[in-house]
Amino acid sequence: MSRILVVEDTLEIAEGLQRTLEYDGYDVSLATKAAHALAVATSDKPELIVLDLGLPDRDGYHVLQQLRERGNQTPVLILSARRDEADKLQGFRLGADDYVTKPFSILELMARISALLRRARPAAPSAGTEAPEAARPAPLSDEALRERYNLTARQIDVVRLLGEGFTNAEIAAKLEMSYYTARNHTEQVLAKLGVSSRAAVGALLYGQG
Ligand code: CA
Repeated sequence: MSRILVVEDTLEIAEGLQRTLEYDGYDVSLATKAAHALAVATSDKPELIVLDLGLPDRDGYHVLQQLRERGNQTPVLILSARRDEADKLQGFRLGADDYVTKPFSILELMARISALLRRARPAAPSAGTEAPEAARPAPLSDEALRERYNLTARQIDVVRLLGEGFTNAEIAAKLEMSYYTARNHTEQVLAKLGVSSRAAVGALLYGQG
């Protein structure tokens, strides 16, 4: 599961982002101050950092600069109310990977996060390198999924990946579809299965629900 660190001192925005990201299958850490952000970036080893520029102690630039000086190359997406081109250039100069200005569209932000993670991640390992799963009960068959839940072939592909705990971004990459399409499929699959969370999909597939 991809871990994302959200550094944002406006609690409303931070918690909204956390909810949306967790709904999409990410593991989220929150930090509201620069000092806290630097500590968590080191301890939690996130795969991506969403970084607000206006923080109560030091600004986001300081966080970014410190990270890069310490050799931390985690992708950073700057989130800022500052619209000035100079701010944007300063961010990229310090090693930011992307920049989104507030107020932002949550869907656009999610798509950018997904793109950054895809770019940062090495190619998926080839089949046969995964650990054996002997102890696992057999999952519901494609036939059962089709007949009981009226899932299409594509939705069955999606449900299998959801059952493995993949995020929408990972599903998009594996099935070679856009982030938006993966998200739509996930929502339709959850509705057809009659479950309210991604976590419930695995339990349903493997008969522990
Ligand atoms: Ca702020």
